[in-house]
Amino acid sequence: MANSENDTIAAISTPVGEGGISIIRISGDEAVEVAQRIYKGKDLAKVASHTINYGHIIDPDTNQEVDEVMVSVMRAPRTYTREDVIEINCHGGLLATNRILQLVLSFGARMAEPGEFTKRAFLNGRLDLSQSEAVMDLIRAKTDKSMKVALNQLDGDLSRLIRHLRKDILDVLAQVEVNIDYPEYDAVEEMTTKLLKEKAEDIQQRIQVLLKTAKQGKVLRDGLATAIIGRPNVGKSSLLNSLLHEDKAIVTNVAGTTRDVIEEYVNVNGVPLKLIDTAGIRDTNDQVEKIGVERSRKALEAADLILLLIDSSTALTDEDRQLLAATKDKQRIIILNKTDLPLTVDLAELKKLAGNSAVIETSIVNHEGMDQLGTQISHMFFNEGIESSQNNVMVTNARHIGLLHQANDALNDVLTGINDGMPVDLVQIDMTRCWELLGEITGDSYQDELLDQLFSQFCLGK
Ligand code: GDP
Ligand code: ZN
Repeated sequence: MANSENDTIAAISTPVGEGGISIIRISGDEAVEVAQRIYKGKDLAKVASHTINYGHIIDPDTNQEVDEVMVSVMRAPRTYTREDVIEINCHGGLLATNRILQLVLSFGARMAEPGEFTKRAFLNGRLDLSQSEAVMDLIRAKTDKSMKVALNQLDGDLSRLIRHLRKDILDVLAQVEVNIDYPEYDAVEEMTTKLLKEKAEDIQQRIQVLLKTAKQGKVLRDGLATAIIGRPNVGKSSLLNSLLHEDKAIVTNVAGTTRDVIEEYVNVNGVPLKLIDTAGIRDTNDQVEKIGVERSRKALEAADLILLLIDSSTALTDEDRQLLAATKDKQRIIILNKTDLPLTVDLAELKKLAGNSAVIETSIVNHEGMDQLGTQISHMFFNEGIESSQNNVMVTNARHIGLLHQANDALNDVLTGINDGMPVDLVQIDMTRCWELLGEITGDSYQDELLDQLFSQFCLGK
């Protein structure tokens, strides 16, 4: 970003739209002065830090009152950005909020770039890189558990773990350095190699534990792409409604890139499911389902998890068999629905076609079997349970995962080098590379492009 690092920036920090209140945030050396220029009330330059002050925003050019406001004054360094921060709480409403922002911008502040407040928090040492990313994850968190993971990360759990790894690597590198100064002793050389090998194995093992959490982490973060499929009338719409109904509080409709793609998120036992292709299921006249199998094929290609419904009150049809065959290599749960009706389906055949997949019996209209379905879903993805993962630290961020993989590769090189009898100072280079890669996670070593790319993903005002 081309802008100087401590000019005064401003943005609307609350979601744009009709809300109870809106907040315009200003940060930088001149934050207080800028606010004072458009504010009538106490002298903000004289009020104590961390106070909230009643008053009015006035357009200095026309002397017209714009809104009644509360202005928070927070002086550096105990602020989010570690700079002087002003937050103008106004009554909300797009018009007033935007006018206040315009005034702030005409009277000395510059529009903040996306993520720039958090970038400053990072640059001023308040947050490390993985914590800054956690801020972003928090904004997007979809379930309680993903919220918790992001909070832990914000709390610095992952950073602590990474720093610990780096310290251990540095210790061994220092030890190696000392030993290299006495090359004439074969015994020392042997000791050094042994030490390097032990440490590399230990660190690799710890990195792999972290990487194991990544799969779960990704699910928590992005939602598990889930397709509900089955021939017409088996109960897909009923299942969808039941899932959505149980979880009204956190259901969000996210309009996709094209008009007819709707993603709906639903939280099942802590697993955020991203239900895909629900548009077809929602279609009440079920016109779309005429092309049943074809449509299902598409949905199941994109899915991580398939919920395949079978009607227990009718015999298996060819369409059922086709769907069972088409999903046999997928993570799937077979839902044997309508168990309140007399059983007609050939259970022996179904079992055979189901293979190793779980079969859950439900009567969706009577709300039976839904708990078992939820348990099965969370069991499939959190075998050991989220709570029990290492110190509750979970890697959820794609950039972190990539770096951990590279660090793991570097350690492989260390170990291969040792096995091939490579000189210690060459092995040392790979060990150092591992140390640097880990440092990129916390931002202890970083590059400017990375920063820009990262912070530009934030929404404005953060
Ligand atoms: P879809 O075509 O797969 O979406 O199926 P729907 O959800 O629209 O359901 C088709 C019909 O089956 C509706 O009349 C539902 O009320 C009924 N239905 C769904 N689940 C059950 C169930 O568990 N038991 C019974 N008896 N009927 C069900
Ligand atoms: Zn339907």
